[in-house]
Amino acid sequence: MPERLGPPRDTPLFGRVALVGLGLIGSSIARATQRLKLAGTLVAIDNSEAVVARVRDLGIADEATTDVAAGVKDADLVILCVPVGACGAVAEAMGPSLKPGCIVSDVGSVKTSVINQVQPHLPAGVHLVPAHPVAGTEHSGPDAGFATLFFNRWCILTPPEGADEAAVARVNAFWQTLGSKVEVMTAQHHDLVLAITSHVPHLIAYNIVGTAADLETVTQGEVIKFSAGGFRDFTRIAASDPTMWRDIFLHNKEAVLEMLGRLNEDIALLARAIRWGEGDKLFDLFTRTRAIRRGIISEGQETAEPDFGRRREGQ
Ligand code: NAP
Repeated sequence: MPERLGPPRDTPLFGRVALVGLGLIGSSIARATQRLKLAGTLVAIDNSEAVVARVRDLGIADEATTDVAAGVKDADLVILCVPVGACGAVAEAMGPSLKPGCIVSDVGSVKTSVINQVQPHLPAGVHLVPAHPVAGTEHSGPDAGFATLFFNRWCILTPPEGADEAAVARVNAFWQTLGSKVEVMTAQHHDLVLAITSHVPHLIAYNIVGTAADLETVTQGEVIKFSAGGFRDFTRIAASDPTMWRDIFLHNKEAVLEMLGRLNEDIALLARAIRWGEGDKLFDLFTRTRAIRRGIISEGQETAEPDFGRRREGQ
């Protein structure tokens, strides 16, 4: 992706920013925050000694520690970048150290569960503004991140009812400075939308790659050799982080099951159309789906390149 981030700021947006979890998303935020000078001081917190050591080597934060309570002390903004299932434990560990006026945000792919896990541990005067950058790759860890990951991607904010408006505006400004387009919606609506646009597609990819691996009449060698027939594109999605995706399905259970129910009904209709030779039905559906793909490309959320535009440049 070409370099399109703006120039560094003269004055930072926040004094002290703490990121918890320096994987793909956390380390991408760290790189962009540093490059754009969005924080007076940037603190990296991770429960893994190896990740903290790597963050120091990469020089992508001013301070790095495994001690979450010490790391978030005096922070003006804390962003949880850990798997969804770890958010409650992190919030419990850091809650007593947060100063009044601090904004706590996150990047979790599920929002209702994160709010339910985090809110009870925040002291009065600390503002929760959950966020979900709809951007990522199938890679994990601090080396996988890059500063332009969020450029021209959507970031969804899901402030709980009665959230502090000034805090929401500051988190909104933060993401816009990273190059994101921001939309605000309820956590419940977010979870339903993402179930169909992200969670169910991942489940289908995990399933189809698993099924191909278990086939007895087609060899593994043939699956790999002829993968360009469509299978290859599912394998990229099915290579995504197992911890992250386990947590997403466990924490967005209702919405995923609702969308899976719809999907099962529609697959039954497709099977019927194939069985009875109803070519018109198949043709109509494939024409509609092609238009959706073209819409995504014209919105700038994908390129028409055969490599899906995912070549990485601009670390
Ligand atoms: P990742 O690369 O696996 O990084 C997660 C990091 O958090 C790891 O360094 C992990 O350390 C650390 N961690 C786990 N539990 C922790 C705890 N209790 N305290 C401190 N650190 C902890 O994951 P990611 O892809 O960046 O995803 C992070 C979050 O972003 C998830 O909630 C995910 O839903 C969301 N998200 C991901 C994507 C994507 O495409 N990847 C896109 C949008 C949003 P260990 O490895 O040692 O456990």
